[in-house]
Amino acid sequence: MRGRFAPSPTGQLHLGNLRTALVAWLFARSARSEFLVRMDDLDLVTSRRELGAGQLHDLATLGLDWDGEVVWQSERFNRYRTAIQNLAEQGLVYECYCSRREIHQAAQAPNAPIDGAYPGTCRDLTDDQRQRRSADRPPALRLRSPNTTVSFHDELVGPFEAVVDDVVLARNDGTPAYNLAVVVDDAAQGVQQVVRGDDLVSSTPRQIHLASALNVPIPSYAHVALALGPDGSRLAKRHGSVTLADLAAQGTTPNDVLQLLAHSLKLTAPGDHVTLDTLLRRFDPAQISREPWQVFG
Ligand code: GLU
Repeated sequence: MRGRFAPSPTGQLHLGNLRTALVAWLFARSARSEFLVRMDDLDLVTSRRELGAGQLHDLATLGLDWDGEVVWQSERFNRYRTAIQNLAEQGLVYECYCSRREIHQAAQAPNAPIDGAYPGTCRDLTDDQRQRRSADRPPALRLRSPNTTVSFHDELVGPFEAVVDDVVLARNDGTPAYNLAVVVDDAAQGVQQVVRGDDLVSSTPRQIHLASALNVPIPSYAHVALALGPDGSRLAKRHGSVTLADLAAQGTTPNDVLQLLAHSLKLTAPGDHVTLDTLLRRFDPAQISREPWQVFG
């Protein structure tokens, strides 16, 4: 078995990210699996090498170790292009000239095929139409998908299904899209278990469909409920002291943070004080809290 954690190096890890990392590590290590860390730095504008280095430092501070070299997606664009080429040879790729606004409008129309999904505007353009539209903007690339429902069983969320729309493979500036890169990398790295925040559960059917189209194995999935700020929105830096550095400045040690995370996951009883080793020995995924965590609650 092989598991992984794939943060985006666009800021410091906050308590929610650290909590997901802890769960990913516990899943892998309790099964005596390898555990990889991959930096999701496809977005060259928002990602920073030094932020990634800081995230690795924070993982190590909590005692979460990993195997082998950390992989950076920004160094693997060739692999993603090869995968798009593979899909194109199967006739599954088309150019999409729609702006966000056009997609939003078309997806809201009463006759839109699936609520909120890409309505397929550019799916069957003629050569003429394509030429005309390419004068406005360079195209993104999309996967021609059958718009069928894909279902899977998530180890924490349970059964989940969604209709798969024509997912973006590359943005119109040429950047490979997250859904493509994640599938390509998990397959190339032999990842068999994906553990991540449950904001990505709705993208999983698309990724399963992409994996099938690329003829690579489909990993198992465990989506961890998110950490929330006092206003009920996803935890963020603006909510206060949410990183190891912020907390250390207030006298909260990494060990205190470990207790906080374990307790939030319902892996420990109130007042229980555990080491990472103890958590590992008693790890039972069935115990993990399925509820969002109100960090300041
Ligand atoms: N980079 C994503 C995040 O930080 C996770 C991607 C994944 O695990 O597939 O939310």
